[in-house]
Amino acid sequence: MVYEITLKTTGRNQFIDITRQVESIVLQSGVKSGVCVIYAPHTTAGITINENADPTVRKDIINSLEKLIPWREPFYEHAEGNSAAHIKSSLIGCSQTVIVQNGKLLLGTWQGIYFCEFDGPRTRRVFVKVIEG
Ligand code: ZN
Repeated sequence: MVYEITLKTTGRNQFIDITRQVESIVLQSGVKSGVCVIYAPHTTAGITINENADPTVRKDIINSLEKLIPWREPFYEHAEGNSAAHIKSSLIGCSQTVIVQNGKLLLGTWQGIYFCEFDGPRTRRVFVKVIEG
């Protein structure tokens, strides 16, 4: 079974903590030991794992990506005008895999799972698959 999370992003660049939603899916799945795949079916968004304690970390990541990959560059050719969002999506990646142990996500104390919006606001989907093994 594939579970789905629907998100409404509110900014062009935004990190949304989806750890609780993914945890509740793992619980629903009944899987005690295995892996959990978190996958975003989008070309201008991503999934990452990083600190969930201090919100300034998220801000620093977003601002650093913005500095590395500006919204406008004279050499961009993609007619839709959102090349920066596509590049960020490829850099961050569109999925993460987390080990499930004792029915819980095996995350570090300070780790959270983030949906990363790079071309919002939009309605987005995240697929979650929990595999026993
Ligand atoms: Zn595009």
